[in-house]
Amino acid sequence: MAVTRLAVAAALSSAPPSSSHSRGRATPSSCRPLPAASCSRAPKSKALRAAAAPAADAVDEEAPASPPPSDPGRGVENLVIIGSGPAGYTAAIYAARANLKPVVFEGYQVGGVPGGQLMTTTEVENFPGFPDGITGPDLMDKMRKQAERWGAELHQEDVEFIDVKSRPFVIRSSDREVKSHSVIIATGATAKRLRLPREEEFWSRGISACAICDGASPLYKGQVLAVVGGGDTATEEAIYLTKYACHVHLLVRRDQLRASKAMQDRLIMANVSEYSTTPT
Ligand SMILES: Cc1cc2nc3c(=O)[nH]c(=O)nc-3n(C[C@H](O)[C@H](O)[C@H](O)COP(=O)(O)OP(=O)(O)OC[C@H]3O[C@@H](n4cnc5c(N)ncnc54)[C@H](O)[C@@H]3O)c2cc1C
Repeated sequence: MAVTRLAVAAALSSAPPSSSHSRGRATPSSCRPLPAASCSRAPKSKALRAAAAPAADAVDEEAPASPPPSDPGRGVENLVIIGSGPAGYTAAIYAARANLKPVVFEGYQVGGVPGGQLMTTTEVENFPGFPDGITGPDLMDKMRKQAERWGAELHQEDVEFIDVKSRPFVIRSSDREVKSHSVIIATGATAKRLRLPREEEFWSRGISACAICDGASPLYKGQVLAVVGGGDTATEEAIYLTKYACHVHLLVRRDQLRASKAMQDRLIMANVSEYSTTPT
């Protein structure tokens, strides 16, 4: 049977900058110096992995021997949701309240932890309804309970294959195969890490993958910051950080920016220093 492979691992290959030369403006002398373990920002890989979407360019291949349906008598589900981050649970809550009895594959390990990216953070301060903030794991636990309360069926399993070429769709995890009239893929994103020396130690303690999440925190306020990347995302993050940072450097891993001209103009307006990390 032809199937679409569900790619779940993000391609995480980025070399740390090897050298740099400035093409930009000098750092204001009033800024505090950049800490020895220079903080860097990597753009988040926001796009859903292409092969996970029922797109024309999805990879086709022969399916391995499939596990038997967990309950052959069940027939076809209304909705399968893949992913248990905020998007997956939100979809589950709405669908369950609409009596669609959604089946949720929460993931286990291939696409990050069940509960998604917020499981790896401490305080979430921008979620409405929590004036004092809430920890990421507590927030995700509440979302999970809410989905469960309304009747979503949750399985802590990774989806390995989906077949969306014929109807009903087939969704297969290590433990079961489910047929469904519709599928919501909410497998989120994974930060592209640079694999810098001691990156693990400083992750969330000076190194972050999300300017909007972390920029306002005391850790970054008033500091000299560096953003790694030269596309629109990196330039957007850099410009955003100028609200809080003493100064922002953009480390571009080639000899020119990939960002659109409009974003490049905004970089200049925001007084972001731009560096190429390509050796001269
Ligand atoms: C450290 C950190 C701090 C953050 N802080 C904030 C903040 O304070 N405020 C804010 O608004 N945003 C914050 N964010 C961003 C926020 O976490 C994301 O925007 C949000 O989690 C995206 O939700 P999502 O449901 O789309 O995907 P994710 O949270 O990435 O969830 C994806 C889900 O898909 C599952 N999955 C993947 N592959 C499979 C598969 N094959 N089978 C089954 N399941 C699979 C994973 O297990 C996971 O449950 C932060 C992010 C990080 C990393």
